[in-house]
Amino acid sequence: MNGALIRKPFKPHPRKLQYLLQIDYYITQLTKEKAQTHSLTSLQCGTLLQSFTNSKSYHKGKQLHAHMVSSGLLVKNTYLNTKLSAFYAICGSMSEARVIFDDIILKNSFLLNCMIRGYACNGFSLDSLALYRDMLWFGQKADNFTYPFVLKACGDLLDVKIGRKIHSEIVIRGFESDIYVGNSLLSVYSKFRDMEAARKLFDRMPIRDLTSWNTMISGYTKNGDPEEALSIFSLMARSGERADCATLVTILPACANMRALQLGRQMHGFVIRNNCGLDISVTNSLIYVYCNCNSMVYARSLFEMFERDTVSFNSMILGYARNGDAFESLRLFNQILLEGIEPDQVTLMAVLGACDQITALQFGMSVHALLTRKGFAIYTIVGTGLINMYAKCGNLGCSCQVFEEMPEINLISWSAMIAGYGLHGKGREAIAVFNQMEAKNIRPDEVTFTSVLSACSHAGLVDEGCDIFYKIAKEYNMEHIVEHYSCMVDLLGRAGHLDQAYKLITTMEVKPTLDIWASLLFACRVHHNVKLAEIAALNAFDLNPKAVVPYISLSNIYAVEKRWDDVERVRATVRSKGLKKQPGCSYVELEKVVHCFLVGDKSHPQSESIYSKLEDLCWQLKEAGYTPDTSSVLYDVNEEVKEKMLWDHSERLAIAFALINTAPGTVIMITKNLRICCDCHTVTKLISKHMGREIIMRDAHRFHHFKNGICSCGDYW
Ligand code: ZN
Ligand code: ZN
Repeated sequence: MNGALIRKPFKPHPRKLQYLLQIDYYITQLTKEKAQTHSLTSLQCGTLLQSFTNSKSYHKGKQLHAHMVSSGLLVKNTYLNTKLSAFYAICGSMSEARVIFDDIILKNSFLLNCMIRGYACNGFSLDSLALYRDMLWFGQKADNFTYPFVLKACGDLLDVKIGRKIHSEIVIRGFESDIYVGNSLLSVYSKFRDMEAARKLFDRMPIRDLTSWNTMISGYTKNGDPEEALSIFSLMARSGERADCATLVTILPACANMRALQLGRQMHGFVIRNNCGLDISVTNSLIYVYCNCNSMVYARSLFEMFERDTVSFNSMILGYARNGDAFESLRLFNQILLEGIEPDQVTLMAVLGACDQITALQFGMSVHALLTRKGFAIYTIVGTGLINMYAKCGNLGCSCQVFEEMPEINLISWSAMIAGYGLHGKGREAIAVFNQMEAKNIRPDEVTFTSVLSACSHAGLVDEGCDIFYKIAKEYNMEHIVEHYSCMVDLLGRAGHLDQAYKLITTMEVKPTLDIWASLLFACRVHHNVKLAEIAALNAFDLNPKAVVPYISLSNIYAVEKRWDDVERVRATVRSKGLKKQPGCSYVELEKVVHCFLVGDKSHPQSESIYSKLEDLCWQLKEAGYTPDTSSVLYDVNEEVKEKMLWDHSERLAIAFALINTAPGTVIMITKNLRICCDCHTVTKLISKHMGREIIMRDAHRFHHFKNGICSCGDYW
């Protein structure tokens, strides 16, 4: 106890020091046995209580309380009882405060204010309002110490009606121009999501302080209006008010939400000039801005330079995952564990999102274990994330298990499960889940319908898909969104109803997208309809002249029909426009390490054995009657070179690598960033048969389960 009050970060004024020492003396007196006889006077106790109230020293105050009880000081002493009740209220011990409060007959406005404040600040908003009502009932007048806390209680309860009533009382009693009351009003209206009212108040405030500006900025940011937040900030700069750390922490998320990199950098400059960078919340906000603006280099340099915590790691892990570098996200996750910083739910969910991008199933499983250990796995949002991760990483069984074990299932979880089945071509199961959901009276939204329609299209369930498509408008009175049409075109096209698909495109209520024409093009390839393919391709070229995929599709369609002149014409256009195919890239996970292969990649340490394995495979497959389909090679080279180019495709490198490094019979799991080409599809089917391996491949469109020479997609993808 000795010196506890003096050991403050500041150096007290000599007179204040004397005062503090005096308090310490009293405390020493109290703790001694003889304190029983050496009683303090009522005034001394009052002064002491006040100082304990100011410093919120709960335990010291309680000791003093005991002393006052034993020495009988409290009997019929309204002055001390008031101080004591106020002390407990300010310390947040409301039940103790209330017992003393109820015994006081003459309650003054100081005591009532303290109680209202205590209730409002400790989560007892209703009690706070009830006491305020009693206060008026007792004939006491509320003042500028009452209103801020009554308003806080209204804001926490989100009770707009009472909030407005109190506001009108404030206006009548002339407290609106008081800065504390005014700031509380700004805060309460921003909690009510009524920024218009807040702004009107703000504009007519006679004086504004830093809190007023900060409240407005954070109000706009939290209510999804970052533009206004920034405009208030620039007004603030012009008014000459200087921003502090709290301002930065509120304005930086607005920059992040608007992806205003330039402004974020200006703020960064401000932070450096004003030395606010030492505050971890400011640094974290800056990291968040850079990550949201996809400026990972700046984010990283800040991250490396300053102290970091879970929040900084979360921003970085999410940032890398969003910017397509899931590998770095996983590396950072390892780092957070190494540095001994506790990952929270946000961290683990971000890592799950990174895992499903690169199909890091084993890594995802260890994150699942961690989520369970930390007790997060019971939350619906976490369960949904797990369903997604397992489905995207190729393990649908685990998705189902998580789904079944979830204590509470919401719309997003149902949609995730339906999408999971769809991704794996299990249309009937997806529809069954959808029906279960309807039976539980859960109203599906657009996303759910997209998932179930897409599941129908992946499984070729035409009638079921059409039924659901009409149900959206008729039963649910919802409008079709472009994704619904996209699934329907895919579904009809796949089943060979090309004219119907085309008719749907020409009559749909929304503008067709590139995706929709591309779906029709794919269907035309499968069903050999060159005329419609040309129409689809022209529309696709119109929508995005730089997209190379429609050109490749059209050229493939001509190649199948052996119209070599047309093939050459399309290829010449591609060359003259300088269009390039996005490089193919495949991933395969081995003992929690994900290996990445590009087309013709020779950088892998095992490169030599991978290529010799591929050569072996090529001979074996040829002996079994395989003839390469070189139509997907866009270059004008001879057949032999074309064939060689096919064997450079990234998925084959990944498969060869997996064949070398895993025991016979192990299931191989590959992820590809683009759609798998025709020849790779054939080759993978053959490998699955000749090597006796099940190969699961996720391409940009869906999952392919290759087993015994057959693919689950039925050769349509
Ligand atoms: Zn290929
Ligand atoms: Zn397939």
